[in-house]
Amino acid sequence: MRPACCEERITTVWGNGLATRPDVSNGGQFGAPRPGGRTHAGADFIGYSELRAIEPGNVTFAGVLNSAAGVSVAIDLPNQIDGQIVTVVRMHIQPGSLRVMRGSQVVAGQPIGLMGESGNAQGKCDHVEVRFFRGGQLVKTVDPVTWIANRMGQPVPMPASIQQRVSKAFVNGRVAPSRQAPIRGSLAAGIAGTFNAFTRGEMVEGNDIWFRGHFTGLWFWSGAFTSTSTQGLIKV
Ligand SMILES: [Zn+2]
Repeated sequence: MRPACCEERITTVWGNGLATRPDVSNGGQFGAPRPGGRTHAGADFIGYSELRAIEPGNVTFAGVLNSAAGVSVAIDLPNQIDGQIVTVVRMHIQPGSLRVMRGSQVVAGQPIGLMGESGNAQGKCDHVEVRFFRGGQLVKTVDPVTWIANRMGQPVPMPASIQQRVSKAFVNGRVAPSRQAPIRGSLAAGIAGTFNAFTRGEMVEGNDIWFRGHFTGLWFWSGAFTSTSTQGLIKV
């Protein structure tokens, strides 16, 4: 065990951004019967407007997933569980309301979009689905109500080499440490980005330090953060 002082910790919230569980719609329970003998692979939460990230992670999809799911967001969590990648998928989001894009890094509680009824939703709901993958293959889906409740209040330790820095302005994530490099992600102001390395790249306003995103591998100019400290980060 690493000393508690030096761990970056992850917290869990419900999809409403709170520690109190929102209601699940009638028939929206995990495993509820669906046409064709299928069962409901997620849980349909109701009673709030702004959907918030349940845990931190990397946005791997943001857009119309298919005609049933409608506008959806998929977030891969930073730590594998039993060698499996955990992906939290949100469906039926209100079109035009997305606050994240593919490649965005999010923290728990960060707004991702508004509750809607896109796709085949029966009324407005926040369909939350927790998928486990191994080798790109879906292994299982689990009941989000049980899964989130079990993780609530149980911080997940992260290695000391993974550090968080809070952005003081909107900052682009680029494929190389240069303002000329293509943009593939971003962090809004006031967000704790998660980084695992730094490098010396293009000099901007007398500062050539760039942080490497832990989830995306993208480069973020350190001058956009409240601390430009490289302590704990690996130099690459
Ligand atoms: Zn659903």
